[in-house]
Amino acid sequence: ENIILENENFNIFEFEKKIGKEHILPSLSVYVLNFYELFDEIVPYNKFENFVYEIAKGYHRENPYHTDLHAADMLQSIFTYNLYSKFQVILNLSDIDLLSIFISAIIHDYGHPGLNNNYLIRTKDNLSIKYNDISVLENYHVSEAFNIILKKQDNNILSNLSDDDYKLCRKNIIECVLGTDMTLHNQKYQTFKIRLQTENIKKGEGLEQFLLKQDPINLYNLKLEFLSFIIHAADISNPTKPLPIYREWAQRCVEEFFKQGDLEKKLGLPISFNCDRNTVSLPKSQLGFMDAIVSPLFTVFNEYFPQLSFTLDNLKKNHKYYKEIVEKEKNLKK
Ligand code: AMP
Ligand code: MG
Ligand code: ZN
Repeated sequence: ENIILENENFNIFEFEKKIGKEHILPSLSVYVLNFYELFDEIVPYNKFENFVYEIAKGYHRENPYHTDLHAADMLQSIFTYNLYSKFQVILNLSDIDLLSIFISAIIHDYGHPGLNNNYLIRTKDNLSIKYNDISVLENYHVSEAFNIILKKQDNNILSNLSDDDYKLCRKNIIECVLGTDMTLHNQKYQTFKIRLQTENIKKGEGLEQFLLKQDPINLYNLKLEFLSFIIHAADISNPTKPLPIYREWAQRCVEEFFKQGDLEKKLGLPISFNCDRNTVSLPKSQLGFMDAIVSPLFTVFNEYFPQLSFTLDNLKKNHKYYKEIVEKEKNLKK
């Protein structure tokens, strides 16, 4: 049993085959928390096991994309970012901060129905009514996960924390998971991009000085901004993975979009962007996703943490791969 988690080329699909679907999120989570010595003083091990198995079970495994495997992938991505960039040290994160971002990754798509916010809002789904159309799914993921944590003592992974630490941890988690709403992407991207110029941050230089000159309240808010940025980056990190892994994720993601499209068609609703299996091309949609979203964000991300350049290297290769397919398809049509 020797699959190394501490590696940018880690293959989560092979790991899943070895260890079994139902164990992947729990085993990865235990590995990561154990690595940072978060057991037992901070998080009681037995309670964590109960909690994480219950969370894993609550992901809908019939979804093509939004399953506990995606949550495990996000956790592994963040773990790798920290190993390579040492963002924990640079941002001076406490154990509670680190724990918060790991728990956020574990729960961040909990109970995802395989349909997006727009769909839930347009069909007046109960969830959209409950959350007033505001980050409907993201609110749902956090809220349901906290119900699991608090519903019985045996699940309460936060029971060792003081009231203040609990408050902090909960605030961090809420911020991180609500921050995965894609409608916030542009704002995040702009803030971090503009800061590169105003603070003269380049290839990692300047970040530490920038953090040093903050007063404590500013510093706390900044840390939260960074945590939320990192988790968002991990959420859209498919195109930054080695090609075989990216291809598998892309396949699954697009299939989930198409399933929503099928449902919209059946209900006589207009088919959402990228959801029509009769017209959308996977390679084209992936190029669009990389060009509009992933490349800009990871380019900025790398200016803060240049040790993550493997993400940009993969991105470049993957872009070339799909670009060639699109060109070939074009030539065939001529
Ligand atoms: P989440 O749905 O919480 O996982 O948020 C990430 C969002 O990023 C997804 O809903 C998609 O809109 C987008 N996304 C992530 N990976 C891909 C991909 N491979 N292709 C297209 N869109 C993606
Ligand atoms: Mg989500
Ligand atoms: Zn996600």
